Amino acid sequence: MSADTRGNRSPKVVIVGTGLGGIGLAVHLKQTGINNLVILEQGHDVGGVWRDNNYPGAACDVPSTLYSYNSFKTKHNWTMRYSGQAEIQSYIRGVAEQYGLMEHVRFHSKVVSATFREETGDWSVMTEAGEEHIADVFIPAVGTLARPNLPSIPGRDNFQGPAWHSSRWNHDVPLEGKRVAVIGTGASALQFVPHVQKQAGKLTLFQRSAPYIMPYHNFSYEEGRHRIKRARPLMKLDRFLFWYVMEIGQQFLTRWLKARSVVKSMSLRHLKKQVKDPVLRAKLTPDYEFGCKRVLFSSKYYPALTQPNVEVVTDRIEEITAKGVRTADGVEHEVDAIIYGTGFKTFDIFGHMKITGAGGTVLAEQWKEGAHAYLGMAVPNFPNMFVVYGPNTDLGSGSVLFMLESQFPYIKQAVERIRELPAGSFVSIRHDVWKKFDDEIQGQLAKSVWVSGCSNWYRNEYGRVVTNWSQRSWRFRRRASRFELDKYQVGTATARQAPARVPAEGIS
Ligand code: NAP
Repeated sequence: MSADTRGNRSPKVVIVGTGLGGIGLAVHLKQTGINNLVILEQGHDVGGVWRDNNYPGAACDVPSTLYSYNSFKTKHNWTMRYSGQAEIQSYIRGVAEQYGLMEHVRFHSKVVSATFREETGDWSVMTEAGEEHIADVFIPAVGTLARPNLPSIPGRDNFQGPAWHSSRWNHDVPLEGKRVAVIGTGASALQFVPHVQKQAGKLTLFQRSAPYIMPYHNFSYEEGRHRIKRARPLMKLDRFLFWYVMEIGQQFLTRWLKARSVVKSMSLRHLKKQVKDPVLRAKLTPDYEFGCKRVLFSSKYYPALTQPNVEVVTDRIEEITAKGVRTADGVEHEVDAIIYGTGFKTFDIFGHMKITGAGGTVLAEQWKEGAHAYLGMAVPNFPNMFVVYGPNTDLGSGSVLFMLESQFPYIKQAVERIRELPAGSFVSIRHDVWKKFDDEIQGQLAKSVWVSGCSNWYRNEYGRVVTNWSQRSWRFRRRASRFELDKYQVGTATARQAPARVPAEGIS
């Protein structure tokens, strides 16, 4: 540890990831005088998912007024009601530059392992290139929706044409006039399908489950009567009102399950209004509880599917062939390109990164039946490690920014408390504290719509909802507002422990 301006020891902090989580936390830490900071980023630029998801039409389906930090650098000059990817990424980059974070970022630094060393009470963080970073506090901020899920459909590698995942868009392949297959109908596909439809000669959309879709009214703040809405007080009011509406949405998903029928009927009316063909409409009608999968927003998706160059295929995909996609009815759909809108590995967020805690505990083994953490941040057996946007911190309805900005002050307080402890000390969440918390949250989630029978990216094969928070977001904020040291065990590096007294008779 080195000395900082306040004369206290300044713990060295290593953050992994430069998305909204990693960047926002770094600003908070720097504002507290914690400058001994390294941010490891596997990519070439900051932005996390907003750097990676640059597919045509990529935008945020949460209103812009809720999609910037509120504790600092709130953005009031968004161009659109729902912002596009480039504007959001440029906002994140602007924050990183303005707050002097670029000098802390090590690009092209893919972390492959992080190991807690009991002897020294710190973390050894290794990159793929073989660089070692020693950290007193280790903060993975890699997010839940970062690792592409390429489905294990037989023959996937046999396809002779170009194929890619939505978050790794291949901008070098022109789609004009081509026969294009899109697999998946989640939030990403909903945004890029209308663009692909306009270019492709034929678009074949493979749908395993139909999503519930709500209307999406986007507009430019720079045009006509909308200009006035960019006045700061109106932006703030809008932010509050939308946040409040989303809190009610979170209640619909977790507690007031019967009330969901009102919103469900709005979604089905939207479908009926936009799709007149009863056969297509039947295909696009969801057959599971409203809200069990993420409810989506689009006013362009259904109209795109009604175009003559689009076929919606609901037969099960049996295999990918050299020429296209074969479905269970025996039809081979020949295509020139395949786009996988098949989501992310939300149950295995650290993937290639082997994280080893106290006593040699491997995180992937501790989490093998599902990720868990106290307030989504502190994991038993993993001292001085705090996860940003960790397990059970996502919302079925709401902005992840609100949850992130609830975690930043908590982690900041944790680092400050660690700074005050004697050298070589580390803190680890008490098992009983985590267990009580986990039982409460999982108990509530067991009554939520997310366990009502559909498959979704929230609930794993063991039946555990690993991604979502079970209450309204303000309750999370209240609970995370204070770091309480008594909920943690304090340990000391073995090398700093006082040597055992040697019995007098042992001395010759
Ligand atoms: P997703 O919601 O997980 O959707 C994946 C789609 O692929 C689903 O339709 C799924 O079908 C299908 N699929 C997966 N494996 C398949 C297989 N083997 N065969 C056929 N179909 C398969 O992924 P996403 O659309 O990338 O979105 C992920 C999350 O990212 C969103 O829920 C959202 O939180 C976030 N996101 C946010 C925005 C935003 O505007 N804020 C935009 C894009 C994404 P099933 O439903 O049947 O599993």
